[in-house]
Amino acid sequence: MVKAVVGANWGDEGKGKITDMLAEEADIIIRFQGGANAGHTIVNNYGKFALHTLPSGVFYDHTTSIIGNGVALNIPVLFEEIKSITDRNVPMPKILVSDRAQMVMPYHILFDQYEEERLGGKSFGSTKSGIAPFYSDKYAKIGFQVSELFDEELLKEKVVRICETKNVLLEHLYHKPLLNPDELLETLHQYKEMVEPYVCDVSVFLDKAIKEGKTILLEGQLGTLKDPDHGIYPMVTSSSTLAAYGAIGAGIPPYEIKEIVTVCKAYSSAVGAGAFVSEIFGEEADELRRRGGDGGEYGATTGRPRRMGWFDCVASKYGCRMQGTTDVAFTVLDVLGYLDEIPVCVGYEIDGEVTTDFPVTAKLEKAKPVLKVLPGWKSEREDIRGIKNFEDLPENCKNYVNFVEEQIGYPITMVSNGPGRNDIIYRESPLKK
Ligand code: GDP
Repeated sequence: MVKAVVGANWGDEGKGKITDMLAEEADIIIRFQGGANAGHTIVNNYGKFALHTLPSGVFYDHTTSIIGNGVALNIPVLFEEIKSITDRNVPMPKILVSDRAQMVMPYHILFDQYEEERLGGKSFGSTKSGIAPFYSDKYAKIGFQVSELFDEELLKEKVVRICETKNVLLEHLYHKPLLNPDELLETLHQYKEMVEPYVCDVSVFLDKAIKEGKTILLEGQLGTLKDPDHGIYPMVTSSSTLAAYGAIGAGIPPYEIKEIVTVCKAYSSAVGAGAFVSEIFGEEADELRRRGGDGGEYGATTGRPRRMGWFDCVASKYGCRMQGTTDVAFTVLDVLGYLDEIPVCVGYEIDGEVTTDFPVTAKLEKAKPVLKVLPGWKSEREDIRGIKNFEDLPENCKNYVNFVEEQIGYPITMVSNGPGRNDIIYRESPLKK
């Protein structure tokens, strides 16, 4: 049985927490896209961790953690991350790396930095982890697949050929130091040594696991609005963030994905540039940022303050639809307890017309939020952490969840009221068939 855990919005919805929680009942957790450019924050009995490459199931000893072929694999980052958790007494996880995964090369990271520098004020706000240059090379068919590390002849020839191309850009476009093929080859030899014990044919492994009835989680990074096709292009990431891509990035049949848990945060946050219709500013935003998530809304990879906004029903309805949502996990609801009133974006006004359909980027830039203000639950009970049953939530808090569900049209079956594994309320949804 395969389940996907994906984001409805701009990322940072709390997928890490939901994956960590669902992993208790899972056998295999697999990352199928993205790289070390975004992070998941996980709080469990070992402490608080920021993961970038490892799937969020690595904290259990009964799970296998897989880096799928769709991932941008940064080998040194992967190994540092393994060390950072085992140093803190987490047992060495069982890890497999797809022989078809491609590797982030040191020059991808350099090109990411150089390009952002070159663009100056027009930059994308990249995390400079090399992700865009990596995926560009993958699709330009000049990437390095893990399997190629084991073919020395091919590797030597390819390293020389690629350095030639890259050096033209380094010399004439960026005016930066050139690549040395011998050094690059040496780096790849080191990568080979590090990764060799974990490499396998992941699609064969998963085919067998599916036939044996194992529970497999596909863990997405970022969210629908950062998808290169369906997101806010060009302010998107470079690999698909949709559950559908889970089939490709893991190597399984699409019809095996039976459940799609889409994670939606009770307010909005975004990193990087791009239109963000329900964005708020000033003291109002600062306060939500300070109180948000678990210890504030700051990037898990970069530490950058996140942009903040009210819950956006238009973006979330679209976000859930494009994922093919079977269940919504509605997270970080506890954070909103301090508000007397909670605005929610229920429509976009574009050129004088109101729509609830998420538009293409040029129209999105013109959209103004139509806000509906809902009463908060501060006067009933501000702190909702520790509550286990939906019925026990304050009336206005239940109303908030019910209202959001009606607006987005997908069943909210889980409500997260704290960062820990057990801070979860299962809810019966009228929309769940
Ligand atoms: P991801 O990239 O989607 O995994 O999201 P993040 O790792 O950025 O998660 C958002 C933050 O919210 C993290 O600091 C989590 O620990 C925290 N978090 C997740 N769920 C909840 C919740 O229900 N309540 C609170 N207060 N924090 C949460």
